[in-house]
Amino acid sequence: MSDQVNLENSQEVEYVSKTVNVIMCDGGSGDLGHPAVYFKIDKKQEVICNYCNKKFIKKD
Ligand SMILES: [Zn+2]
Repeated sequence: MSDQVNLENSQEVEYVSKTVNVIMCDGGSGDLGHPAVYFKIDKKQEVICNYCNKKFIKKD
């Protein structure tokens, strides 16, 4: 279990379809994993997971 936040490192970015309203992130597998969390992206262009700092960006 790590609370480290490494904004300096290359940030993971995932592009999602603009039809997606809710994003699920579980941080992937292994050490990067975290409990599944859901983020609403319906009114925003991007959302950052507050567990793993992964950035979800809506595609046009
Ligand atoms: Zn995450």
